[in-house]
Amino acid sequence: MKALILQQPGRLVAADIASPAAPGPGEALVRVHRIGICGTDIHAYAGRQPFFTYPRIVGHELGVEVLAVGPGVDNVRIGDRCAVEPYINCGRCIACRRGKPNCCSDIRVMGVHVDGGMREQLVLPAAKLHRSASLSYDQLALVETLGIGAHAVQRAALDPGETVAVIGAGPIGLTVIQFALAAGARVIVLDVNASRLAFCRDHLGIAAAIDTQTADPLAQLRELTGGDMPTAVFDATGNPQSMATAFRFPAHGGRLIFVGLFPGDVTFNDPEFHRRELALLGSRNARPEDFRHIIEQVEAGRIDTTTWITHRAAFDAVPDVFPSWTRPETGVRKAMVALT
Ligand SMILES: [Zn+2]
Ligand SMILES: [Zn+2]
Repeated sequence: MKALILQQPGRLVAADIASPAAPGPGEALVRVHRIGICGTDIHAYAGRQPFFTYPRIVGHELGVEVLAVGPGVDNVRIGDRCAVEPYINCGRCIACRRGKPNCCSDIRVMGVHVDGGMREQLVLPAAKLHRSASLSYDQLALVETLGIGAHAVQRAALDPGETVAVIGAGPIGLTVIQFALAAGARVIVLDVNASRLAFCRDHLGIAAAIDTQTADPLAQLRELTGGDMPTAVFDATGNPQSMATAFRFPAHGGRLIFVGLFPGDVTFNDPEFHRRELALLGSRNARPEDFRHIIEQVEAGRIDTTTWITHRAAFDAVPDVFPSWTRPETGVRKAMVALT
């Protein structure tokens, strides 16, 4: 069967690999219909993804169809359309035992630590499949991306009506914005990129979009909140300067949620942190219940994903077009690969 293998940075090649064996107990065999491309894939292609080893079949944002199930599988049936929770967890560590498989101490993310979905078929634990009777394969392939924002918002436990700020309106920030809005929050967006801010204004109805290239974010946030400042601030930039500066933005008694990450240290002024009794939260991946919540929200039409997909390619064309997706000037919000 067809597969695309990232042999080394910059070298994505088509290959013919063996079809998977029949699914074992608790496993399912699926056909991959759609693969969403995200920052992780692009960083891996560019050789910037920490802990990434080559060769690797990338792709972790998948819309799949169940072809066969092994013994003991009862959550999905042949023909079901599913989103994939691509986080393979150990089931034994302290995080797994406490219902947090998203931050398992021995996590293996499909497409990063183990082979992912850029192939026609694969076998995976059936428990990692989340079915929907009505979503399209495009929508199912967006569920994992949405999970990042859904989980960050769940971590923050937002109250309806509270004012939150989201720093960074890239694909991850957009997912945070969507779920913060769905939770009933008033959302202020900050970014350095005017076209991203325009997208938030035009497509997400964000009235308060601050261009941090031209405006002073602290003064703007103060003005927009009547001096209170936002009670939750999400940093989705993965930018060290932004993350350090973000400590200045939450209200007294507020929380700061780091959704993005970068390989290094973040420092902050302790008296500022203490004075405001800030809660600092990490947010990693998403939990199974986040996947179910997202599918319900998209099914109910409360999360609209239709404007997200900016680029499309057929599977066979991916090696040729992928380099263009890594360039910011291409303006990729979400590229979607179709296998069928
Ligand atoms: Zn992703
Ligand atoms: Zn674990």
